[in-house]
Amino acid sequence: MGKITKLEDIVSLCKRRGFIFQSSEIYGGLASCYDYGPLGVELKNNVKKAWWKAVVQMRDDIVGLDCSILMHPLVWKASGHTDKFADLIAECKKCNVRTRVDHLKERVEEAAEEHTKHVSIESAMARAEDLSNKVCPNCGTVGKFTEPMPFKLMFETQMGANVDDSMTLYIRPETAQGIFANFRNVLDTTRVKIPFGIAQIGKSFRNEVTTKAFIFRTREFEQAELEFFCEQGTDEKWYEHWRRARFKWYTDLGLKKENLRFREHEANELAHYAKACVDIEYRFPFGSGDWQELEGIANRTDYDLRQHQRGMRTVNKWYENNRDLTNIELADEAGDFEKGPLSYFNDEQKKRYIPYVIEPSAGIDRSALAFLVDAYDEEMVRGEQRNLLRFHTAIAPIKVGVFPLVKRDGMPEIARNIYDDLKRYFNCFYDEKGAVGRRYRRQDEAGTPFCVTVDGQTIKDNTVTVRDRDSMDQVRVSTDKLVSHLREKLDL
Ligand code: ATP
Repeated sequence: MGKITKLEDIVSLCKRRGFIFQSSEIYGGLASCYDYGPLGVELKNNVKKAWWKAVVQMRDDIVGLDCSILMHPLVWKASGHTDKFADLIAECKKCNVRTRVDHLKERVEEAAEEHTKHVSIESAMARAEDLSNKVCPNCGTVGKFTEPMPFKLMFETQMGANVDDSMTLYIRPETAQGIFANFRNVLDTTRVKIPFGIAQIGKSFRNEVTTKAFIFRTREFEQAELEFFCEQGTDEKWYEHWRRARFKWYTDLGLKKENLRFREHEANELAHYAKACVDIEYRFPFGSGDWQELEGIANRTDYDLRQHQRGMRTVNKWYENNRDLTNIELADEAGDFEKGPLSYFNDEQKKRYIPYVIEPSAGIDRSALAFLVDAYDEEMVRGEQRNLLRFHTAIAPIKVGVFPLVKRDGMPEIARNIYDDLKRYFNCFYDEKGAVGRRYRRQDEAGTPFCVTVDGQTIKDNTVTVRDRDSMDQVRVSTDKLVSHLREKLDL
């Protein structure tokens, strides 16, 4: 195996081969925003497909959803985001650069592990009392900070053209709330019975104070979230189930076990409503500690559905307040709250309750970065360096490269026919330019698991070579068995 991958190697490969570009690059770029190029969009789509397959397609107890990014302002009041979704920041008095207080390091603890979780403002405040020994990451000045202050992470926008009906909306900072807001719709229109889950993949936006490390932390990103509803008392069992299932998803798709670990949240890190939370961390090649969150799995109890039920009871008050959230308190849980619209009725037990929820919440871009980093390899082959991405077949952007050995003797025509046939099943790439060895190397670098080459023998006996990216071994396969051969190898 090759050397330890550096992030620069990945960034340079991504740019060179069209995986990921800086957004608006021709205008000098827009910080922390990235565009996925021709190979990158395939990679990202494959990550999403693999998640959807494991979480929705292969399960009888989970359905999907695709919610709008803009939602009613009360959604974010009920979820707690309008009041609490903020990072505590301090400004360096010397260089005026603002940093998240929980990212500041003591002069002596620079090598210490960095945990970058958004923590509640209360617990950040408690931990942030003493900044006198903290170092400004921008200019290196020690202990010259303003008082810590909260910085809101949600982006705002204006909806509507008319002064009297326009209003301020938030661009969603997570996809989960769309699921809670549709809990009743899903119950009423499908046959789901508790325990069941609702899954969604979509874009989220956070005005992060510090962005970093390529696509690891950006202001626009994609999440894959599952809300799994269950009865109180069975929640711990389901929490265990999802921890295991989600960890296995990454290893099944080829991430090396030694680069993955669980990190349990300490009691003082937990949001007040969460009963338990664990991160699946990956050993990224950056940061001081390297281990960074890929996904969080939380036991969120019945908090969210309760909050939205309170939110629903607040709608009239919000209208009376000229559709303004300022100074509005959520309605309380009076009366028959447990039997409200977001409760669940168990037919057999004749019991009504507000379900608990287990939430595995993953980042698609972070997973894509982990798949890239983990797959990257360099090795020496006959005195030449070979760069390759050892992607799992489900993740590889291109599944099969198809080449004529040379551009004559009818080989390109045969190769084109094979390509036209194969592309009905897999994402393929046809290439007839330059020496075949170079074409193999280009596909190795794109992570293509197999290359099919038409050569002189094809014309005689209708066989082609199929070359394996990892071993570089070649086998001859008859053209009429090619689709089934590749299907089996690719497991598609
Ligand atoms: P972090 O601690 O890294 O800020 P978080 O704990 O706030 O993340 P969650 O709210 O739990 O993140 O979001 C779930 C997942 O969404 C994260 O595990 C991560 O993979 C992804 N994610 C969150 N914020 C970002 C971001 N700014 N850029 C890319 N992915 C993100």
